[in-house]
Amino acid sequence: MSYTPMIQQYLAIKAQYQDAFLFFRLGDFYELFFDDALKASKELEIALTSRNGGKDEYIPMCGVPYHAVKQYIKVLIDKGYKIAICEQMEDPKLAKGMVKREVIQMITPGTIMEDDSLQPKRNNYLAAISSFPDESFALAFSDLTTGEVKVTVVNGWDGVLQELDANDVRELVAASDFPQDSRMILNEQMNLTLSEEDETKIPEALQHLSAGIDQDKLLTALGRLLSYLTTTQKRSLDHLQQASVYHVQEYMMIDPHSRRNLELTQTNRGKKTYGSLLWLLDDVKTAMGGRRLKQWIEKPLLDQDKITTRLDAVDALKTHLLERETLRDALNGVYDLERLVGRVSFGNVNPREVVQLKRSLDQIPAIKKTLAAIPAPALQDYAQEMDPCESVRALIEQAIVDDPPFTTSDGGMIRAGYDETLDRYRDASKNGKRWIAELEAREREETGIKSLKIGYNRVFGYYIEVSRPNLKLIPEGRYERRQTLSNAERFITPELKEKERVILEAEEKRVGLEFQLFGDVRLKIKNEAARLQQLARLVSALDVLQSFASVSDANNYIRPDFSNDRTVAIKDSRHPVIEKVMKNGFFVANDIQMDQSCDMLLITGPNMGGKSTYMRQAALTAIMAQSGCFVPADSACLPIYDQIFTRIGAADDLVSGQSTFMVEMDEAKYALTHATQNSLILLDEIGRGTSTYDGIAIAQAIVEYIHDHIAAKTFFSTHYHELTFLDKKLKRLKNVHVGAMEENGNVVFLHKVLKGQADKSYGIHVAKLAGLPDPLIARADAILQELEAEKQTAPAEAREAVVQATAATEVDEPAQLAFFNEPEGTDMKKPAKKEQKVLRELEKIDLMTMTPMDAMNKLYNLQRAL
Ligand code: ADP
Repeated sequence: MSYTPMIQQYLAIKAQYQDAFLFFRLGDFYELFFDDALKASKELEIALTSRNGGKDEYIPMCGVPYHAVKQYIKVLIDKGYKIAICEQMEDPKLAKGMVKREVIQMITPGTIMEDDSLQPKRNNYLAAISSFPDESFALAFSDLTTGEVKVTVVNGWDGVLQELDANDVRELVAASDFPQDSRMILNEQMNLTLSEEDETKIPEALQHLSAGIDQDKLLTALGRLLSYLTTTQKRSLDHLQQASVYHVQEYMMIDPHSRRNLELTQTNRGKKTYGSLLWLLDDVKTAMGGRRLKQWIEKPLLDQDKITTRLDAVDALKTHLLERETLRDALNGVYDLERLVGRVSFGNVNPREVVQLKRSLDQIPAIKKTLAAIPAPALQDYAQEMDPCESVRALIEQAIVDDPPFTTSDGGMIRAGYDETLDRYRDASKNGKRWIAELEAREREETGIKSLKIGYNRVFGYYIEVSRPNLKLIPEGRYERRQTLSNAERFITPELKEKERVILEAEEKRVGLEFQLFGDVRLKIKNEAARLQQLARLVSALDVLQSFASVSDANNYIRPDFSNDRTVAIKDSRHPVIEKVMKNGFFVANDIQMDQSCDMLLITGPNMGGKSTYMRQAALTAIMAQSGCFVPADSACLPIYDQIFTRIGAADDLVSGQSTFMVEMDEAKYALTHATQNSLILLDEIGRGTSTYDGIAIAQAIVEYIHDHIAAKTFFSTHYHELTFLDKKLKRLKNVHVGAMEENGNVVFLHKVLKGQADKSYGIHVAKLAGLPDPLIARADAILQELEAEKQTAPAEAREAVVQATAATEVDEPAQLAFFNEPEGTDMKKPAKKEQKVLRELEKIDLMTMTPMDAMNKLYNLQRAL
């Protein structure tokens, strides 16, 4: 037995779309079969059924109604899946034999156009990658929703990860022989959907997008991207803009870890925007401004002139409060121009959105005028460059009514007076309707039946309705009976039917013509896409600048200066986010001073004293400044950093299962191999993931290495007081510490950064503050006393003793920080159970899918668990 013809058709199509869910149209449903059905029923939480497919076995099946398909698509796309939409290409009623079916579009995370699957303030990038023997890679990006296309070349795999991360890419297209281990990293760590495309020639129809690009590497990646788009979208891609080339060297490099550590666009815990730098600086009025803001924060500039241009504009907007308010009001009325133009070009724009486009354009003259009135060249340039696209605005105003319906199916969107023929159809139907109203009045009059009325329904068309008690009043032969209701009868007359025909015909023609006219308007707007996109670029940038100005004004930020001798001189610097979210108390401002004779600050002091806050604010201040924003300080002069590296915090590392120490070393290595003299390095408590001696040794070696070989501006916080003597040895290293006081046996943090080293460790007090049990605190006190006594004679053993002593309280690190790091596998009382657990873990390991690094980590963890 073989499958039924329909299942055979299904299988033939499915064979071409192995990596996607095939939504197979069957009447009013999209059906999924076989494995697709098994998987989709789970992911979508819909019922799994089965059907007889011709062979003996039943085929698993599930389906979603076509009118609700969007919501199901969204769920699958959010989970990173791809969907192939397979439609019936002919009317089943008219088809001879099997209905023809074809995939009309692939929907993937990087190509989705539906509004409810997109975040207004985030770009939706699809990227393509090509690798070359010299270990360089070309990347091409497109955001189908805005039409943006850009390409770049990066060196090394780190560069790839960095760019994919900085651009928030959702889907990556690679060659079919793209290495498996790279796929794993991208898929699992970066949560990217991977797709394949081997064609790297740019499709004929899209050749123009590569104008001006002659570098083969770039062309290959762009070719892959555009080939993929062409094969998946199967429709016009006219709105794609000419590809722009950018150079990663023009932007400050921040690796993915550091981006996360610094909470640039989302917080570490909870992955929320709230509490991130993006959240703080977001006072934009438009969605496209939101996207632009995110780009600026993720890619701070290196070119001082460009930074200065932004700062000039922010400066002017900050001081001209009234004008800024006018601008903000105008921007409030601007919709998502960029995505609207995208939808116009893609062909899925609705009449309401076209009116939104017009309303947005309505605001441009006011914006231009306001900008021109502010005496700042930076803003005047904007004013001058802004093309209000008046012809587009006028066209929409003439053609489309002010408040059109969402859909084009019933007409009602084209304005009277725009098209003569349309007006005639409208008159015909209006006249017909008037005639009917007159007929009703006349018939009432002549028959004397006051309640007589003329109605309409889809089945019978127009009818005259007379209630039962009045039936006898109808003169013989006046009407033809059509329908009997319980308390009335419905009639027609030949005259009425004739008018009905005229009205309905006019209506049908009107709807058809409106649809066509709307299509024409859309096409005319599409022809102006490039102008509109350029306008969108200017407006979104302006929106970010006003946001910077508004936030700077509200939070008392000042304009930063840049030094060219690498001097850092920030007076009363604050952490912008903590200062903002602090509910009680106030933020203690601190100076950050590193002149030419100082490259490193070694920061000591108690936990919770403010060390990492101080370090982070140094980095955030630099990022804000190089993005063109004012900074939280009383005055600020800082170098332009080429890169920022961080090794901060361990909370999320523990969750991810990697050993803290491994992560530490990985990130330290990354910084040490990439940093230059012009970089900024933040290292927080390096070495704490291993035993004390190891930790101190490694921490010291790292400090020395950076000092001697890199000389980047470096903040190094540590609880190893042993390291503070390094200032004697390393000329450009200075000790600072965060101040704390003891008050009635409790510790009071001053959060003040002071010269020199901290003189006492407050670990036990902090532990007490954290609410650890009193007996434990007492015991720790006792141990400390003992150690301090021993320290006089044998410091080395004393350290060892700390390790042992703390191990007795089931903590395997020096007391001070161990209280805050929940060690893994503390179940010490049941060794047998623990070993079993390790054995089980060992058994589960899939060696074939592991990198050597993974294996090391796993081993490390297993060992620790024993
Ligand atoms: P450390 O790194 O020394 O353990 P943190 O920098 O994490 O300490 O600071 C701990 C907490 O102290 C922060 O969450 C913040 O609430 C508060 N804090 C830090 N610095 C300041 C400051 N300058 N002013 C006010 N509060 C601060």
